[in-house]
Amino acid sequence: MGLNGGYSGFRILREGLSGNRGWRPAWRDPAPQPAYDFVIVGGGGHGLATAYYLASQFGEASVAVLEKGWIGGGNVGRNTTIIRSNYLLDGNQPFYEFSLKLWEGLEQDFNYNAMVSQRGVYNVYHSDAQRDAYRRRGNAMILHGADAELLDAAQLRAECPFLNFDNARLPVMGALVQRRGGTVRHDAVAWGYARGADRRGVDIIQNCEVTGFRIQNGRCTGVETSRGFIAASKVGCAVAGSSSRVMQAAGMRLPIESHVLQAFVSEGLKPIIPGVITYGGGHFYISQSDKGGLVFGGDIDMYNSYAQRGNLPVVEDVCEGGMTLMPMIGRARMVRMWGGIMDMSMDGSPIIDRTHIDGLYFNGGWCYGGFKATPASGWCFAHLLATDTPHETATAYRMDRFERGYMIDEKGSGAQPNQH
Ligand SMILES: Cc1cc2nc3c(=O)[nH]c(=O)nc-3n(C[C@H](O)[C@H](O)[C@H](O)COP(=O)(O)OP(=O)(O)OC[C@H]3O[C@@H](n4cnc5c(N)ncnc54)[C@H](O)[C@@H]3O)c2cc1C
Repeated sequence: MGLNGGYSGFRILREGLSGNRGWRPAWRDPAPQPAYDFVIVGGGGHGLATAYYLASQFGEASVAVLEKGWIGGGNVGRNTTIIRSNYLLDGNQPFYEFSLKLWEGLEQDFNYNAMVSQRGVYNVYHSDAQRDAYRRRGNAMILHGADAELLDAAQLRAECPFLNFDNARLPVMGALVQRRGGTVRHDAVAWGYARGADRRGVDIIQNCEVTGFRIQNGRCTGVETSRGFIAASKVGCAVAGSSSRVMQAAGMRLPIESHVLQAFVSEGLKPIIPGVITYGGGHFYISQSDKGGLVFGGDIDMYNSYAQRGNLPVVEDVCEGGMTLMPMIGRARMVRMWGGIMDMSMDGSPIIDRTHIDGLYFNGGWCYGGFKATPASGWCFAHLLATDTPHETATAYRMDRFERGYMIDEKGSGAQPNQH
């Protein structure tokens, strides 16, 4: 087919010895067909994973992914790369554990190096009450088959000696650790799924914006796009931060607000941070990339926006969090920052469901935790699209749970999108 076949050590050696002239684009650039069985709107991690699993798990051959920009230009290429399944609630835990298990086998599955690194996630606690809450969460994780470990201050000091253990206001008392959590090279996830889907016949169509839905007698029959009308038996939307805007074109008002979240990277340093560390006294989390940069973030910017850039007060707030948790960070220079648009739901949990319009399905509300969900989200959305029934780990992610009062409020902060 003229494209890259499998990647292998032998192939790299052969290409290395022959001037790397044999590599071809990893996926095709097809023109849109007039009709498909499945059209997925949004070529982020979730849309690409959905297409990949539709083809690989459900044997669907007639699938297109429509992306208004380029693959990896959205949040899948903007996040801080953290994966974990340290959730408390029944509605969430099995889903995120399913996702973590998929991460563990993903590189073999799509034959692409996504740099899945299970370097551990440490949630630091600073009070007895917080320790009790983390112990409860750890027990819930273990009951669902995930791994969790509670460290006291001495155990944590042995692994992360640079933390501010003796802070007068918020002393570091220990941490809940999930050793199987860690980081994944985010844009490689988009590329791996794109390549895997393409090789199974999925058309990935970039620079193709969905501008409307054709709805006849309560049924969605296709999408209007910047490259013309495309008919579809089923349309699945996975547009993350653009969810409200896109679904508005189908006449729907979602229980979702869009907010900006920023990420920051320091200059490259020698390895100092063993895993992902989250601060329990404020919103700050940090890991170290394989290139050496400290990758960190904190709260959303707290105002509604569709702009993929943030503002300075949050930069200050995040840096203060970092200085309180690990004062040594003050010696590092920050070299880059950027923003992405978060689809914040009312209870902080996602939606994977049908809509009231036949043939139109929705996947969104990922807030700032959707990267770790990418494999399970794609699998469960593909399951729903292919079988019209929810996957067993995603039964709670119904659109009408807010009407019915079945919130999945992991943080316990109420119906406040900006608080989750
Ligand atoms: C700074 C930051 C840090 C984060 N850190 C983490 C983290 O550490 N761990 C974690 O689990 N999650 C994290 N997240 C959240 C995570 O990145 C998102 O929840 C997740 O990537 C969203 O799913 P996606 O990959 O499909 O989104 P996207 O990559 O945004 O994909 C949606 C796509 O839809 C396209 N689109 C929009 N409108 C249209 C249209 N009309 N027609 C066609 N295409 C359209 C967009 O161009 C975009 O490419 C973070 C996010 C940000 C911004």
